[in-house]
Amino acid sequence: MVAAIIPAAGVGVRMQSQIPKPYLLLAGKPILAHTLEVFEAVREIQEITVVAHPDDLEYCREEVIAPHGFKKVLRLVPGGKERQDSVYHALKTLQQEEPEIILVHDGVRPFITPEYIRRVIKAARRHGGAVMGLPAQDTLKRVNSQGEVIHTLDRKDIWQIQTPQGFQADLLWRAFVEAYSRNFYGTDEASLVEEMGQPVVVIPGDPCNIKITTPEDLQLAEALLPWLRSRQP
Ligand code: C5P
Repeated sequence: MVAAIIPAAGVGVRMQSQIPKPYLLLAGKPILAHTLEVFEAVREIQEITVVAHPDDLEYCREEVIAPHGFKKVLRLVPGGKERQDSVYHALKTLQQEEPEIILVHDGVRPFITPEYIRRVIKAARRHGGAVMGLPAQDTLKRVNSQGEVIHTLDRKDIWQIQTPQGFQADLLWRAFVEAYSRNFYGTDEASLVEEMGQPVVVIPGDPCNIKITTPEDLQLAEALLPWLRSRQP
């Protein structure tokens, strides 16, 4: 059984909007609804857990889940302070279900496709942990708080990591327990698995799989959507 967790409980200070990012409209529909539609369409996925901010649970149920009739969204759980806490809340509710593979995908990445999700599932089955990523295109520098360059990173080894991230469920569970026991916080799930010394593979990502974080990203998403739709078979 493959289960998906969709964290959408961030507070979204970067968007400078009253409405939290996952509920902003993209082509007239909440960003989160676009994301959930893709996961609903993947036959291999049996169930989806959505994580919403505690203040937005009702809004999420009434404005996103109910009107779009998502059949695989079986649980809606309140998020936590950090993304990791939000995913952990969802993970705990999945314990009884004993899924084989767990996928975690940002609620604000609506342009993921079923094909990429299937690739992550396949790689997670084979390797234990798998993430999507793109080789860095820009030059990357470490900069101090005064805006001075400390040094330049060697770009050839640097990848930008996207979601979904997929894991064998027992591995992900152990990684979370271990991380909390050491008070380790990561910005993605794979970093918790890496902290345990377990391998995580990176599979080629999709430049269109953008995370909508700023008002500019939303403009870009609106501009991209017609072209992405025209590419669909
Ligand atoms: O903060 P970041 O950009 O990494 O957020 C990625 C995803 O995680 C977003 O969909 C956001 O809503 C979610 N998130 C969450 N709980 C938090 C922080 C972020 O579910 N406490």
